[in-house]
Amino acid sequence: MVNQSFLDEFHLNRAEATPLYLQIAEAVRGAIRSGRLAGGEKLPPTRDLAGRLDVNRTTVVAAYRCLRDEGWVESGIGAGTFVRDGAGSGAEDPRRRAEEGASFWASRIPEMPRPEPRWLPHAGDGSILFTSPTADPELFPVDRFRDVLDRVIRREGAACLDYGPPEGYGPLRDLVAERLARRGASVDRSRVLLVNGSQQGLEIALRLLVPRGRFLLVEEPTYPLALRTARLLDLPVRGVPVDHEGLRVDALERILAETPAGMLYTMPVFQNPTGATLSAGRRRQLLALAARHGLPIVEDDYDAELDYGGEAPGPLLAEGSPPGVVLLGTFSKILFPAPRVGWLVVPEALVGPAREMKTCADLSSGLLAQMALHQFCREGELDLHLARVRDRNGRRLAAMLAALEEEMPASARWTRPAGGMTLWVWLPAGLDSDAVADEAMKRGVAVSPGTMFFHDGRGRDGLRLSFIRESEERIREGIAVLAGTIREMLARPGARDRAGAQAPVL
Ligand code: PMP
Repeated sequence: MVNQSFLDEFHLNRAEATPLYLQIAEAVRGAIRSGRLAGGEKLPPTRDLAGRLDVNRTTVVAAYRCLRDEGWVESGIGAGTFVRDGAGSGAEDPRRRAEEGASFWASRIPEMPRPEPRWLPHAGDGSILFTSPTADPELFPVDRFRDVLDRVIRREGAACLDYGPPEGYGPLRDLVAERLARRGASVDRSRVLLVNGSQQGLEIALRLLVPRGRFLLVEEPTYPLALRTARLLDLPVRGVPVDHEGLRVDALERILAETPAGMLYTMPVFQNPTGATLSAGRRRQLLALAARHGLPIVEDDYDAELDYGGEAPGPLLAEGSPPGVVLLGTFSKILFPAPRVGWLVVPEALVGPAREMKTCADLSSGLLAQMALHQFCREGELDLHLARVRDRNGRRLAAMLAALEEEMPASARWTRPAGGMTLWVWLPAGLDSDAVADEAMKRGVAVSPGTMFFHDGRGRDGLRLSFIRESEERIREGIAVLAGTIREMLARPGARDRAGAQAPVL
């Protein structure tokens, strides 16, 4: 018999954001839980219920399907939809509860970009990691930092455990300004905001500088988290190609002629992922073009101090302090990431808005970490550490370049950065970077497929290799495995090694 009593007090709320089919499903669930609908009872035919509730029949069909998927009801072919025996008493069943939770949230959770965990091996499984462009923990000056931390706590007492100012600990802001001045960019301390890693600075810049309807322009390939953050903020993206002299300013000019742009996100020195550095000529062209178009530039100065063959160019901000340039920097790459301290250098006019965003995001970055970093740097420890890191990373880069030269098929190409953390490999034509990454992973070598670095699925012809996390020996070993994988895949029927690498953009 059809039981319709559960509908007695039920009204659809058409003003609510919850879709109608989910409201119907919830009404049925409620009736089962309360016992008004017992196991074996028949639900109204979809057509009848649709008529009664004045909704489309497909809405009721969707509600019943949802209930069926969750195990509340079952349907016999041609016989209708029935409450499953024991469905009410089984409401405590964890699987059911999880499914219910998922269906409750399904309509409320915004669509999230999916990260790419597929190519991240489990830490400690012995894989050779060319995926991670982060400082090598083996070099972290643990004892020196512990000593500094201890002294700071003794000296400051309770004060270092309090909230800090939202713009950051004053003496550390001074220190960041001094370090920038050493590299040619003189900025007043009032323009330096300390943030929770430059990632937070990037998010603040995107929120501040890209109004609705405007595009975020990025180099492509670019830093994947810039793309993911843009997606999360619902910002449309356009890519500007990069070559061996860095960002292609001529391409940017064409894009600006046809695209309403909010800002350009660029890494002028040792770009992630290619390692390319913007040439002196291009810097001038870029700044002039941006000034002409009123285009704000956010320069990610994340690893410019990691130069291994000679001094790297200073930040764009060093070129006469152009008013439209915002700079992001970080301790994560030159020291270690745990304190989560980076900096955002903005023009005077943006100090107030950026400070407000930072305050609303997290009140302030951790004061203790900022005080300890300040003390550590003032004692000269950062510069000592940097010298060691440069030496070690430089040797690792050289080892990787030599191994690539020795092992790779002649038709592969790669960049030869003078610093930074990563380089880019173009695969021989006919190979797909996702497939190569999968195969290499099976053989214990983790690499990042090129698709992660483009906003629109391009990049199937490239790989990013980080050269700073593994020893020279493991780098040689890993490149031999990667090259072997590539050769083997090339030899498979169907792979075509046409003349040379596929259309390098660098
Ligand atoms: N920019 C680039 C290019 C990076 O590679 C990273 C870290 N991988 C960051 C910014 C963010 O670093 P953090 O938030 O640790 O300062």
